[in-house]
Amino acid sequence: MKENIIPHSYQVSKADRQTNNKHKSLLLWFTGLSGSGKSTIANVVEQELYKLGIKTYTLDGDNIRNGINKDLSFAPEDRTENIRRIAEIANLMVDAGVVVLAAFVSPYKKDRENIKKIVQEENFVEVFVNTSLAECERRDVKGLYQKARAGEIKNMTGISAPYEAPENPDIEIKTEENTVEEAVSKILKHITPKLSL
Ligand code: ADP
Repeated sequence: MKENIIPHSYQVSKADRQTNNKHKSLLLWFTGLSGSGKSTIANVVEQELYKLGIKTYTLDGDNIRNGINKDLSFAPEDRTENIRRIAEIANLMVDAGVVVLAAFVSPYKKDRENIKKIVQEENFVEVFVNTSLAECERRDVKGLYQKARAGEIKNMTGISAPYEAPENPDIEIKTEENTVEEAVSKILKHITPKLSL
């Protein structure tokens, strides 16, 4: 089947779309434990980019796991497929000229390496939201840790499933030491040069 798929050559290119938008596109990927602060920080980064007239979209568990990935569980092989599909969606959006923010636990190093391959390294910025398990558990934003400790949730990252921390993230945010505003300005400083045409 695959050999019969011959790409059509379209006249409007990614570069054309980026020129129209007046900025480049990329994927800003937030990884970290549940409750580490990924969505909180991504949300403020997106607001700041929006104010600058930059075209953005945020992918997170709510819009992905309730829709395209609603058939997937939290078992390791399904987590891998979850991340692969998100990366493919992000890749299309980056091709469309959009700055994509993605906030997912994404606990496996090999899955995050795969994202980099799908979107290509130069379009990928990895943000490690580094918050200790103890602090995430103290926050317990969604009550998931309590449920996991009670044995009501299986495969809970940090409790009954592993989290493989990035060794060389592009940006590391320590939310127990820095405020949301500090995290946001660190991220904006890193990506601003990458967005200019
Ligand atoms: P995640 O998306 O990683 O699961 P959330 O962003 O939903 O995590 O929750 C993180 C919680 O931690 C929020 O309630 C947020 O207000 C709180 N928090 C406290 N300090 C910080 C900080 N410095 N950076 C990000 N979040 C923080």
